[in-house]
Amino acid sequence: MPFLRPLILVLLVSFTSNFAVAQASDNNAPTNAQTKTPVNESTEIEWRYHGGTYEDQRYSTLGQINARTIKDLKLTWFADYPAYGGQQATPLMVNRTLYVATAWNIVYAYDAASGKELWRFDPAVRRAVLIDACCGPVTRGVAYADGKIFTATLDGRLIALDAASGKQLWSAETVPEGGRYTITGAPRVANGMVFIGNGGAEFGVRGYVSAYNIETGALAWRFYTVPGDPAKPFENPILQEAAKTWHGEWWKYGGGGTVWDSMSYDPELNLLYIGVGNSTPYDPTIRTAGMGDNWFVSSIVALNADTGAYVWHYQTTPGDSWDYTATQNMIFADLDIRGEQRKVIMQAPKNGFFYVLDRQTGELLSANNFSKVTWATGIDKETGRPVLTGEAKWWLNPEGSVLFPSTGGAHNWHPMAFNPDSGYVYIPVNIYSGNFRAVEDYQYRSVGRTTGLLAGSPPLADPKVRSVASERLQGRLLAWDPIKQQPAWSVEQANSGNGGVLTTAGGLVFQGDTQGYLNAFGADDGSPLWRFNAHSVIIAPPISYRIDGQQYIAVLSGKGGSLGRIAGGVINEDMTNISRLLVFKLNGKGTLPEPVRLEVALPNWEDTKVDPQRSKRGAGLYAHYCMTCHGVSAQGNGITPDLRYSPLSGITDAFKAVVLDGVMASTGMASFSPVLTPAQTEDIRLYVVQQNQLARKAGDVSRVGR
Ligand code: CA
Repeated sequence: MPFLRPLILVLLVSFTSNFAVAQASDNNAPTNAQTKTPVNESTEIEWRYHGGTYEDQRYSTLGQINARTIKDLKLTWFADYPAYGGQQATPLMVNRTLYVATAWNIVYAYDAASGKELWRFDPAVRRAVLIDACCGPVTRGVAYADGKIFTATLDGRLIALDAASGKQLWSAETVPEGGRYTITGAPRVANGMVFIGNGGAEFGVRGYVSAYNIETGALAWRFYTVPGDPAKPFENPILQEAAKTWHGEWWKYGGGGTVWDSMSYDPELNLLYIGVGNSTPYDPTIRTAGMGDNWFVSSIVALNADTGAYVWHYQTTPGDSWDYTATQNMIFADLDIRGEQRKVIMQAPKNGFFYVLDRQTGELLSANNFSKVTWATGIDKETGRPVLTGEAKWWLNPEGSVLFPSTGGAHNWHPMAFNPDSGYVYIPVNIYSGNFRAVEDYQYRSVGRTTGLLAGSPPLADPKVRSVASERLQGRLLAWDPIKQQPAWSVEQANSGNGGVLTTAGGLVFQGDTQGYLNAFGADDGSPLWRFNAHSVIIAPPISYRIDGQQYIAVLSGKGGSLGRIAGGVINEDMTNISRLLVFKLNGKGTLPEPVRLEVALPNWEDTKVDPQRSKRGAGLYAHYCMTCHGVSAQGNGITPDLRYSPLSGITDAFKAVVLDGVMASTGMASFSPVLTPAQTEDIRLYVVQQNQLARKAGDVSRVGR
């Protein structure tokens, strides 16, 4: 394949040059004489846990950076990473060291003040696992305890590293071989144990959470979130109860219920709360004979942290059939509810409702929709159940239903934050509808998604259609009063998929966006106070820490993952995707290099004859096997190549070499042989060529980057 060499060479060059770490020396004393600073200002303030503290509020007690001083907030240092995969992680700052998890689970440690790299660890994730990953090789972070860093890899390993040296201490396989599980969530730690879930509900798995001993890596306990085959013994007593809420032969499809992101731990109650994901397949007539609540999909479940024993659960979406996961972050607070001080847990799951529960008992205290919702009219306060609308049951309608929220959710993994001073929760909201329509003749598939939902592939290459889609895809930073269950203020945003949130005692809310900015707003009124042009989409949440009296803000840029590809990839395709750690302080002296904008011309394949029957078959195959990674209409997602622009799509043998012979397997493009035949592969290629020709017809003949 001599024609492949130049391309691969270019990839290698850009990969290595992206590793350069730039640092700006910065010895300026802080100018905080007039600002309100705590008495003992030399003490380090860490960001030790995923959500800052066990309360998971993503609230920093630091106030050196505030409405008055923020005009002096400047970059101090940064570090670049290979621009592949999207950056979703929350960094940790412990003992003056910043720990950063990046795509493909490569972990870096830096001196958190100077940016000097101390070590890096590459677990050499098996690239072929990408075929079982819904949303790219992303990770949301690592955990720290007892001088160790815990990282969970996309291919299912939980690894302990020495926090000082980065040397591997132990590694545990947390998923069965060939099980189609992936891990993107951050591990959590408590009581000498490290907890980890997994993802894969779209691919037909059975969810569970495991606890491992932090010293030895030995399995301490495992809690399955859905019951298995009732012909076999249930792993714990509550699963026998859970099985009464399932019907048909659900275990053959896995059932779903993966805990792919959030867990919160309350040390006082010794409860571990797990956020449980959606069911699989989505269509309840296939999954559960169309009946039942299907415990514990889309639920918050409280477990005894020592034993993994069930304590209580609250199901946000009984019998979930919409991909309305309850995996979103869960925040603790003490709130005055109707004159009574309650220990609450708060969540804004995908389904569009904001829930306040008593975290000791699971009692529903209040719920209200925080965004447009058309699948339910509200939550019945007596039963705690949603009241479904007629159109919610899409599987009964041959035409399907268009519903708010979409499967992407009114709120996805991008963490919300709670500020105890303002009393508001700040939610990154996604506003777009989803087409819910059943596939005809559902069959369980051993490769690719197996949800039973028709994967739509709108012809977004048409600029007119794209502008309509863009109008539908909006975002909002919403300040929500959790006691009154109503909005306080909001900032409207051009796209969905904006970044996770940080809020501070300086009265600020920090959030990155899909337009390439890190923003700061007033916590009380949302007034725009500051923004920094990062030249790249930011979806990850920022953190804050203090070293030697200086407050820092740190955040990753780089789009990727499911919403990154919808919002960042399709709508904001003109923005170069830069995977980068950005660290700020008052009067920082760092500068970013000018972004390189590579204008690429659309290859001209006008002369290629496309048999409409073949390209139609190709469209169906593309939607099932390729679209998740390569985007609608083959136009990429800002991470994977825009296939309409790839010279390889123009040549039958070259396309086959990639798709069937696996010549690019090292990048994550696994071989699809023998799932796809050479003839089917050519059908897909002809569909891609057709998309290229449609783009040319529409006058869409160049783009930036890939
Ligand atoms: Ca899902």
